[in-house]
Amino acid sequence: MYLRKTLSNFTKKYNVLYLNFIQQQQNIHSYYVDKNYIPSLILTNKSQYSNVSQRSSDSPLKCWNCNFVYKSDLFCSKCKVLQEPPENLTYFDIIGIAKSYDINISEIQKKYKELQKVLHPDKFSTKSEKEKQLSETLSTLVNEAYSTLLHPLKRGLYMLKLNDIMISEGTNNVDKEFLFEIMEKNEEVEDAANNEEKIKKLIQENESILNGLTMEITDAFKQENIKKAESLLIRMKYYDSISNKLKKLRYDLGIIE
Ligand SMILES: [Zn+2]
Repeated sequence: MYLRKTLSNFTKKYNVLYLNFIQQQQNIHSYYVDKNYIPSLILTNKSQYSNVSQRSSDSPLKCWNCNFVYKSDLFCSKCKVLQEPPENLTYFDIIGIAKSYDINISEIQKKYKELQKVLHPDKFSTKSEKEKQLSETLSTLVNEAYSTLLHPLKRGLYMLKLNDIMISEGTNNVDKEFLFEIMEKNEEVEDAANNEEKIKKLIQENESILNGLTMEITDAFKQENIKKAESLLIRMKYYDSISNKLKKLRYDLGIIE
């Protein structure tokens, strides 16, 4: 009996010591919290959230839950609670990749999956309402960012928007020759309805035009020639709409890619 009590006291004491030790370790490594839970990109890519231009440097970010002044994480490094995303984050910031038209698709897919894992609703089922809400907001943002950046036209238009350029609707911004070309294409598409072979051929042609445009747009953005990127994206918009029409025809015919 005595022995058992001593043993139990010893275990208790040891547990306290052990917890203190863990606490110290956590303080030392407070920035590197729970590596298994938070993907490395959030921990290592400090610039992901710290380069936001509008952030006021005189008021440091404080955790809404414990008031801890944190650096640039999604989660407070002290209490590990999900934080409000800083305002004015670009889609590139949100996914955690460099701002460039020339994206690496497998990189973006990998980062998206990691973020979705961290923000999965299951992880927040036992958390506070505020955290649940934050996780939903962030999840929506991440989805928007992902679908925009993955799509060559949407990505380009988004990059123009970051440069304060919006492409107007209507046909004022293209030359007549190009418009004629597009009209002819549209007629070809209409004539191809119900013709599986023609649809497949047109899709192939259209894809290669779109790929060529993607390459030209990549160059234009690399050279920071925003005007050129803009005029190429206007063209891409027309071919993208043809692509959508063709895909719909293909879908209606039940052709599997
Ligand atoms: Zn906190």
